Amino acid sequence: MSEFSMYHALGSPVGSPGLNGPPNPRKKEAAKFRPPVATSPGGYQQIGSPTYGAPPNQYIGTPLSGIPATPAQEQGYFPAQPAPPAANEAEVAGLAQQMGGMGLGLEASGYPRAHKKKDRHAYHNIEGPGGSSQAFNGMPQGDMGTPTQFLNQNTPQLGGTPQWGSPQVTPAMSQFPAGVGNQSFTPANAATPMQHAARSGTPLGGAAASSSAGRVDPEHIPSVPRSRDIPAKYYLDHVYPTMEQHLPPPAAVPFVAFDQGNSSPKFARLTLNNIPSSSDALASTALPLGLILQPLAPQQEGEQPIPVLDFGETGPPRCRRCRAYINPFMTFRSGGSKFVCNMCTFPNDVPGEYFSPTDPSGVRVDRQQRPELSMGTVEFMVPKEYWAKEPVGLRWLFLIDVSAEAVNRGFLDGFCEGIISSLYGSTDKQPDQPDAAATRNLPVGAKVGIVTFDKEIHFYNLSAGLDQAQMMVMPDIEDPFVPLSEGLFVDPEESKAVITSLLTQLPSMFREVKNPEPALLPTLNAAVSALTATGGKIVCSLAALPTWGPGALFMRDNGSMHASDAEKKLLTTEHPGYRKIATKMVESGIGADFFMAAPSGGYLDIATIGHVSAVTGGETFYYPNFHSPRDTLKLSKEIKHTVTRETGYQALMKVRCSNGLQVSEYHGNFYHHTFGADLEFGVIDADKAIGVMFSYDGKLDPKLDAHFQSALLYTTANGERRVRCHNTVASVTEGAAECMKFVDQDAVVNIIAKEAAARMAEKPLKDIRGALTEKTVDILAGYRKNFTGNNPPGQLVLPENLKEFSMCILGLIKSRSFKGGKEPTDRRVHDMRMIKAMGCLELSLYLYPRILSLHNLDEKDGFPNENGYLRMPDATRASYSQVEEGGVYIVDNGQMCLLWIHAQVSPNLLEDLFGEGNTTLKQLDAFQSTLPVLETHLNAQVRNILQYLEDARGSKALTLQLARQNLDGAEYEFARLLFEDRNNEAQSYVDWLVHVHRHIQLELAGQRKKEDSGDGLAHSASNFVGLRTPYWGSSS
Ligand SMILES: [Zn+2]
Repeated sequence: MSEFSMYHALGSPVGSPGLNGPPNPRKKEAAKFRPPVATSPGGYQQIGSPTYGAPPNQYIGTPLSGIPATPAQEQGYFPAQPAPPAANEAEVAGLAQQMGGMGLGLEASGYPRAHKKKDRHAYHNIEGPGGSSQAFNGMPQGDMGTPTQFLNQNTPQLGGTPQWGSPQVTPAMSQFPAGVGNQSFTPANAATPMQHAARSGTPLGGAAASSSAGRVDPEHIPSVPRSRDIPAKYYLDHVYPTMEQHLPPPAAVPFVAFDQGNSSPKFARLTLNNIPSSSDALASTALPLGLILQPLAPQQEGEQPIPVLDFGETGPPRCRRCRAYINPFMTFRSGGSKFVCNMCTFPNDVPGEYFSPTDPSGVRVDRQQRPELSMGTVEFMVPKEYWAKEPVGLRWLFLIDVSAEAVNRGFLDGFCEGIISSLYGSTDKQPDQPDAAATRNLPVGAKVGIVTFDKEIHFYNLSAGLDQAQMMVMPDIEDPFVPLSEGLFVDPEESKAVITSLLTQLPSMFREVKNPEPALLPTLNAAVSALTATGGKIVCSLAALPTWGPGALFMRDNGSMHASDAEKKLLTTEHPGYRKIATKMVESGIGADFFMAAPSGGYLDIATIGHVSAVTGGETFYYPNFHSPRDTLKLSKEIKHTVTRETGYQALMKVRCSNGLQVSEYHGNFYHHTFGADLEFGVIDADKAIGVMFSYDGKLDPKLDAHFQSALLYTTANGERRVRCHNTVASVTEGAAECMKFVDQDAVVNIIAKEAAARMAEKPLKDIRGALTEKTVDILAGYRKNFTGNNPPGQLVLPENLKEFSMCILGLIKSRSFKGGKEPTDRRVHDMRMIKAMGCLELSLYLYPRILSLHNLDEKDGFPNENGYLRMPDATRASYSQVEEGGVYIVDNGQMCLLWIHAQVSPNLLEDLFGEGNTTLKQLDAFQSTLPVLETHLNAQVRNILQYLEDARGSKALTLQLARQNLDGAEYEFARLLFEDRNNEAQSYVDWLVHVHRHIQLELAGQRKKEDSGDGLAHSASNFVGLRTPYWGSSS
């Protein structure tokens, strides 16, 4: 145990001034996560609000079976109703199937949550405590003394300690997290019953989800909402220390990470935090070995800022052999004159200027003052040799579609408004105050330019001295050039008057013109000419298929090619013009985001246009049924997010790993010249993630750890050339049993999803769905074969850390990319590229939405608790069987947020939520995208909850879309998102588990025919190295 304290002394938080300095009361405060709370209307008193203090059953839904309905109370939201039929277990079991095929037009009455309480029970522990602590091996003696055990020692998984409970604490540890106000590591702080209930599984014990008769009880299958809610509460007042706990919180949960030398899981998540030493052992688990990297991921209040280190002209110290950057796992010897690389073990000479003596135990005496030796994530300023061109502040070039459709449908208005808001809107969350005092949204040095296009291209001189912007028309779209030498790119603050006046006038200016056909490719070519010298970011709007001039596109998807080979072609592009411009952009350090609207639901060939954003590291925002003004707020917020999120450009990325492993594949949106070369990005932003798969090129030494380092070389938005390094460490063990304790479900799902998305251009969708099924069976059967003990053979046993894995894969099979049935190819390809770039948080929500019932909120929900943390209600499972009569639900999948309202909703509830006079569903404005600000308790609760959801998501803005039962088309989207039901041409969750279970049993009995279960997927192709997943079959 003493080794642990030694590690502390080596560098981390105790005592290093500044960054992770000594305990300090202010810091302690800051470390707590405080979700922002929506402001209350003037004079609003929480205690005095109309419904505060009302009986707690105030908003409770339909009474449980057998109990007569409570008469409606004065303020009750539920009219008296006859008690619904008693729902016994069998009915509930059948319900999932019944409801799966529900007809939305029916007046479906709600069912009570017959067994909701049971959800809260812990799953049975099948087995006793697992193995012993795994040694942390990697610190060579010179630095660390004897190998220590700190890495896994306190992983709450071990020995039956609950996953989210307080870890056992050694004396050495108690000194450690003091600096961040971590309450969880004081010895006296025992785990609460809630924490125990959270995940009481033992490491090797799986959760039994079915009886030996093979029947699956829908109330006992693993619940995604539960797997989020409990950790979310735990992490409200606990920090995640990155070296002590080695299984990150679920990705959908907000948490404060404390960097102890290993990067925060927000930046890097390994699928396995304990890696088997051989490829065979890994293969027995069927799990992928991979890393999900989100190098510019946003941080949360309370987290340490990433240190920016400047080593001057020499640049950061690097290994001479493998070029790895200096990091906390490199060790010093020979009195400090050599450092040994943790990737390749090469002993390097320490450069004279970096020399520091070591203490008797081999530790550099200056370690505590050196963030690069104590933190997993750091950023290095780099000298000229790392430059491709002189770095300057980021140039933003807005390309605005002013063709007829954009004008007619209000898309042009919305886009211009969004740009104004992104440049000049206040940065806090008050969308109502676009004219708040000058806040600089772009960093100093960043510049903006504006180009409009229809069948001509118009450039604007935005020089600050002008009364108004000067337009230069470029009629020659065959060979466009940039007609301006000055004034195209300006400082947005200096030219604020010119820019706002132009953007305000554009809609009316082009209302007179109305050219129907936009010429996109020539505009992109012109934009690239304008940005070639510097690099930069293009933000382009488009409201119609670009059918004019060079690069004109045509209607490729006429809806008749469903499930054919021709459909596959529609998911990609062979257009030489767009492919060429994409490559050219990357070479010049340019990337593009597209905002594409099909106001009349038309085809836009996102496969071709979005190719440009996918290759350059950008993003496509797609509004398939854009309706102004309903969608204007979402558009505006998303433009603002695009412009204000952390963005770098002209980026190169390299991932290094320990000897014995090698990178086998990359997944994401980037340009990859040749395998082995660095990944190239025109631009990269906070929301983008990359999946990296590894294979073995030898056997790992279980006495050493496995190390991973990603290095992103990029230019920041304010014009500095930097390298951001993320360092990740995993322990290594001989067999695979140990590694099952450290599986990161979110990372596994993410990498499988990215790989599936990458295969869309090669394989029929049916084969991809089959392969996903295969993979699920392989992983669960592998676990069953290798790691569970004496469960009855007929029992479905799920690994503790992969309990919700099956549901996530079912969500993936039901996603717009992969689902069976008809789906416009624009939507398929859009979602496919999005999946390739999604971080773990965004993907988790996408695969299983957050559903919150609003009609039965506790009066304290949606308000800060005594510690200032917003109290969130528990989420509801995504099944119609959970929907209550008269209920109101928020359904948020990170992309859209529905407010579904049952037809028999209480008029009182509607008035409390939407204001006086709104007593029936029909009175509500179908196009409202926000809630009004009212002085009712319920309204404040819901606005606070929405604020919380808005802060815990990826790149898409949160605005409301009403889905009133039997009234709104959005109700179909509601039904689609109930992923536990039978829908999207796929099974219900229960039936899916039964299906998977049957194939696991066949596999265990040696009777599984992969061809059958995998939709004819060929398994002949094991020509992949390592984990190049034979389940995908052969590929090109
Ligand atoms: Zn090296």
